[in-house]
Amino acid sequence: MADGGALLVVAIDGPAGSGKSTVARRLADALELDYLDTGAMYRAVTFAVLARGVEPDNLEAVAELAEALKIEMEPDGTILVDSVNATTEIRSSEVSRCVSEVANNQRVRRELVSRQREWTRRRGGGVLEGRDIGSVVYPDADLKVYLTASAEVRARRRAMESAEVSEESVARDLARRDAYDSQRQNDPLRQTDDAIIVDTSDMTIDEVVTHLVTLVPGRSDEGNPSVR
Ligand code: C5P
Repeated sequence: MADGGALLVVAIDGPAGSGKSTVARRLADALELDYLDTGAMYRAVTFAVLARGVEPDNLEAVAELAEALKIEMEPDGTILVDSVNATTEIRSSEVSRCVSEVANNQRVRRELVSRQREWTRRRGGGVLEGRDIGSVVYPDADLKVYLTASAEVRARRRAMESAEVSEESVARDLARRDAYDSQRQNDPLRQTDDAIIVDTSDMTIDEVVTHLVTLVPGRSDEGNPSVR
């Protein structure tokens, strides 16, 4: 159990388009926990970097900006970056192109990981999704899941979410981002030995969520205090 028994934490990691966000949101509802999209936080920093004309490879300027940035994530999915509604803009192709480089900045990671832990502590737990939740943010999470899906399925899912770009260009962006995120120096995307791997290529969201609920420790045991 995470944090000496006080928290129920579910960590969901995996590459882009693996179904993390939808699954994590639905699982959080089923468990009556809050949900945190940590990728949106890296996107929020990247949005601010681009909006202010800072070069993404300027380590110090990017880190200083991140450390001072106000990021508000509303329960309805609205994201305010220094009080500006950037819910749509953080998903732009420009932000998608630059986010991996910003996310490889060690000071940016330190700042956002600390905010993610604080978010979780305040709520007494949560479902967190990203790339390093089970490896860095909560290595002792109650349940660690690594979601994956074939490259074709992942590109199709992402292309369906946006009318802005073709499936081919989405596939190129995902392949580039996956390679960068898995090979980067700081907290790369990786499967931990104790994570449960779920390939969602041929599964519906309902099937994935139903399966994961059964894996949460204590779910089938009313006497277990770790599940509220
Ligand atoms: O989840 P999403 O695809 O929106 O994440 C955007 C980017 O943020 C990822 O490609 C990755 O570079 C970075 N990220 C990260 N660590 C996390 C979540 C996202 O480095 N926990």
